[in-house]
Amino acid sequence: MGESKRGLLERLNADAVICAEGYLFELERRGYLSAGAYVPEVVLDHPDAVRQLHREFLRAGSDVIEAFTYYGHREKLRIIGKEDLLEPLNRQALELAKEVAQEATDEPALVAGNICNTNIYDPGEPGTEDSCRAMFAEQVGWAADAGVDFVVGETFTWTREAEIALEIIKQTDLPAVVTLAIPAEGKTRDGDLPAEACRRLEDAGADVVGLNCYRGPATTLELLEQIRERVSCHVAGLPVPYRTNAEQPTFFHLPDPACDCLPAEGTFPIALDPFTCNRFEMAAFARACYDAGIRYIGVCCGGAPHHVRAIAEALGRRPPASRYSPDLTKHFAFGTDESLKEVNVGYRDRM
Ligand SMILES: [Zn+2]
Repeated sequence: MGESKRGLLERLNADAVICAEGYLFELERRGYLSAGAYVPEVVLDHPDAVRQLHREFLRAGSDVIEAFTYYGHREKLRIIGKEDLLEPLNRQALELAKEVAQEATDEPALVAGNICNTNIYDPGEPGTEDSCRAMFAEQVGWAADAGVDFVVGETFTWTREAEIALEIIKQTDLPAVVTLAIPAEGKTRDGDLPAEACRRLEDAGADVVGLNCYRGPATTLELLEQIRERVSCHVAGLPVPYRTNAEQPTFFHLPDPACDCLPAEGTFPIALDPFTCNRFEMAAFARACYDAGIRYIGVCCGGAPHHVRAIAEALGRRPPASRYSPDLTKHFAFGTDESLKEVNVGYRDRM
């Protein structure tokens, strides 16, 4: 990491920071990862696929390359019977992120370590707090060894679990970004309103607090605004790019009456395609965040590079992928270029 590289907080104080997430869903769609267990073995099995997606997000304008260690934790590796891969997977994921971050054309991208919901936390079993601590500590230790710029703790539905993650991140000197995933009821599973939970995380030392996953832009923004009013630190918003609404505030139970061949479990997680937000919706979300003073802006499960580029352009940027941004003036039938043939342009409304 060069000395000229600015840190996360310096960048947030100056402007927005864009963070692309959604590696699990995108690599699943590409055929490198299995939905269900969602363990990122792709890091070891097909490192080029991970490198390539990091690179696409970077070209699309992500300021952060997040090491793909989401669900690369001890509990997930236990479920697939491969705990022996835990450390090599984490170390390799961190190396891949560092490698691609250096490819940024301007200033190197920020490299983030990542820890997440353990799926073992249970308030009815106090012993699970220490088990979570141990799981977070090993992953944060490997991230710190790799020299990451900051650590993300994300997708926590329990405030308490997020606090434990934060406690472990704070044992390093690294900035901590802690984001909650808010279920349909609008509260964390401990019963806290998102703004109150975020305030507690700020008081406990989080540098950036906010929300990721579960909810689309439409049902995330209002909560983010409440958080923005309640905390004084920077706020993060990384929704899933799906059209959630007041009736279905999360992406778990979206009905698709237009499809008669859905699996019994419904549209989540592998038949969400018809609800995908387009790039204009993600651009509008990014602008709304920025106007509301929310500066750490991104996308979670379902996000793809075109969403990230739309966010970057909405914030006035022109990342490398903007070289190929749409120019419909040259479309053979829908364009406006003077040289287009009237026989086609005049036919557009009947196509
Ligand atoms: Zn997500």
